[in-house]
Order: sequence, then structure tokens, then C-alpha cells
Amino acid sequence: SDHSSSRIDKLSSEAFAEAKQYIPGGVNSPVRAFKSVGLTPAFMKRGEGSRIFDIDGNEFIDYVCSWGPLILGHAHPEVVEAIKRTAENGTSFGAPTELETAMAKLVCERVPSLDLVRMVNSGTEATMSALRLARGFTGRSKILKFEGCYHGHADSLLIKAGSGVATLGLPDSPGVPEGVAVNTITVPYNDLDSVKVAFETYGEDIAAIIVEPVAGNMGVVLPLPGFLQGLRDITKQYGSLLIFDEVMTGFRAGYNCAQGRFGITPDLTCLGKVIGGGLPVGAYGGRRDIMERMAPTGPIYQAGTLSGNPLAMAAGYTTLSLATPEVYEALEAKSARLEAGMLANAKKYGVSSTINRIGSMVCPFFTEQRVINYETAKSSDLNKFNRYFANLLDLGINVAPSQFEGMFVSAAHTNEDIDATIEAHGEALRRL
Ligand code: PMP
Repeated sequence: SDHSSSRIDKLSSEAFAEAKQYIPGGVNSPVRAFKSVGLTPAFMKRGEGSRIFDIDGNEFIDYVCSWGPLILGHAHPEVVEAIKRTAENGTSFGAPTELETAMAKLVCERVPSLDLVRMVNSGTEATMSALRLARGFTGRSKILKFEGCYHGHADSLLIKAGSGVATLGLPDSPGVPEGVAVNTITVPYNDLDSVKVAFETYGEDIAAIIVEPVAGNMGVVLPLPGFLQGLRDITKQYGSLLIFDEVMTGFRAGYNCAQGRFGITPDLTCLGKVIGGGLPVGAYGGRRDIMERMAPTGPIYQAGTLSGNPLAMAAGYTTLSLATPEVYEALEAKSARLEAGMLANAKKYGVSSTINRIGSMVCPFFTEQRVINYETAKSSDLNKFNRYFANLLDLGINVAPSQFEGMFVSAAHTNEDIDATIEAHGEALRRL
């Protein structure tokens, strides 16, 4: 096809064929298969700083950063060293360790709304547990979420979801029982009027609103002024909980997460990605009186054989410790530079473009419309995106193979990397 990549992918093609013999679609998470862009995924061998290297010897400047976690870049020496040092003393005990307390203390200090926090193993576990807690705490069944937001793959949250299910056009997955789906109300992001209508109808039954304070699974979509405050007000009014899913934005949108940046205090917060520094970690936390309803202090159950895993805590603790306010300032500057460069390219080549950004989350859409919800995100020209994506790969730039994901800039990206990326982006647009 006219958008096949010319990068060498012989070994990756063979590896993909072999993987498909044993793994559904050859991948352990769907979007990795590059199905929507019609290409062969590169099998990775090594990462270092802002770069990744595949098994065919191709080198890319990487803006996927493992879908967000690697805020310090790949294989940061101090993170690798912390993992090694910890592993030498054993990889898991299923008993409390002091490192877990250090990690919890650090996270509670940095996230304004957290009194208590519990570690789990993924973002999915974090949101699933937070929902159970919200339902157990309020004694209510319904939850309200937003179209195009993705909160992991728990049954009640796979309704009109974003991320991979949006990319593959499967927003309402088979396998979710109707009895579960009826308890999920979905309304458009940034639409307070619809939220109000939903609460007027079901308010007494709504346990919680769950929201990405900046939506990162339909591209990057920022909350309009007053939106998050409106959610805070209405949940308070109806005795529902407000859950911020900061799995992506946590320690990414800013030093104190999105909630610190916008000055809104949710009742519960879900974390993941950056707090694991590239190892499998999620967390949920919030107000003490709510969190103490979890076992063993309360009756609501949630557990995990590997939760608080020493290696994951070591990687996460080291990553968060190194991600100082200065790091976020530098990320802001580099990301703004990237945004400005891409915008100038779009003008130069006459390509319709709207670029949304917060901190180091950047997303160029192929549309002239302001992108404020899933509907407007979908106005992006997806065919154009697919050709652009293939062009970028050819030019040595790795971004997510989907319009409904942003780019992640890391502390390891230099201004030279950013400028090389801007140049490649211009060339990718020119080739359209
Ligand atoms: N919530 C949000 C906002 C996410 O972006 C993601 C993952 N992209 C999840 C939850 C699920 O996290 P995980 O993939 O670790 O289960």
C-alpha cells in the first residue's frame, strides 16, 4: 500500500509470525499489533534514554515511553541500579517491607488528596478497586463515566471507552454482562449539562463519577474551565464520590499530578504508569475515612499476591524521587517547543491540525476543530494519521500507532531530539 514503511523489518516480521502461533494476535496488549495502521510492529530489543532499538537494528526516538511510565526515559541508570540492588535481596515476600511505606509516604506527600494509598499491580486493578470501594462506601450501584475515557478493562468501565478499544472500534466489548453495563452511565467529556441531567435522573443511585482529569485515551483532551469543579460540586451535592483516574496524568501532567495543577480535590485517586517507573504498578488512594473501609480495617475486599512488590516499589520510588520540580519545568519547555514546531509545520504544509497539550502529553489531531471530547477527536482524519504514522516510523520517530493516544516526552529527550523530531514531523506532513 502507499503507506507501507520502508524500514527494515525482516526479523520483526519473522518474530511476529512466530508470536502469532502462541499469543492471540501475537501481542499481550492489542494496540501493539499495529492492526489499525496495517503495519508489522517492530519487536524491541533495547532502550536507552530517548531511544529504542528493534531487533532489525532500526533506531527510533521514542514518544511512546511504554505508554507513559518512562518519564525519565529508557533504562535510567539509577532506576536500573535500584532494581538490581533490590533483586539481590529477593524479589517478593508477601510480607510488609519498609520500602512500601516509603513509597506510600512519598505518593501521599505529592498527591494533595491522598491520606492513605494502596499499591496494586496495574491501572486496571486501581480503577476496579476504587469503583468497588466507591460502591461499598456509598451503598450505591451506578457509576458515571465519560465517552472516550479509558479506565482499564474492568467490566463496568469497558463502556464507550477510549484507548485501544477506540482504536479498534470496539468501545462496548462483548463479554460485559448487560446487568453490569446498565450500571454505567456515559456522557460526553466536558459536558456538564449532560452530567446534571444524569444526576437529576439517577443521582441517588450514583456511587461515583470516574474521570480522567485530562483525557489521554482519545488523544489528549483538556478539561474546559469549570468542568472539573462542576464535577466536584455535583458529586458533593448528591453524596457521590469523585474519582480522578490519574493513571496516565499522575506525575505526568505535573509534579503534583493533574489535581495539583487544577486545584481540585477528588475523594479517590487512581495511579499507575509513572509511579511504577516501568514496572507493573497501580495504586488507589484518598480520604482516610473512605480508604479505611478497605480490608483489613473495613469490610470491602481487595488483595494481591505481588502487590507492593519490592522491585516495582524500588523502580517507582527511584523514579518519583528523581522527578523533581526542575524536571517538570524542563519537560514543559521541551514539550512546548515540540508543540510549536509541529504547529509551524502544519501551517507550512497546509495540513489541518489541532494540537492539544498538557505538560509532556502532546497530541496533534488532523482536524481544524477544537478537540474537547470524543466526538471532536473523531473528526480527525484517521487515514491521514495512518500515513503520517508510517512516515514518522520511516523517519525514525516512534509514536503510538493510534490517533487516540498522545506523545510522551521524557526527561531524557534533549532539545536536539525535539528539533530532529520537528524536522521529521515536517517531512512526514510533506509526504502526505
Ligand atoms: N486508566 C487510564 C487513564 C489509563 O490511561 C490506563 C492505561 N492506558 C488505565 C487506566 C489502565 O491501566 P493498565 O493498562 O495499567 O491496566
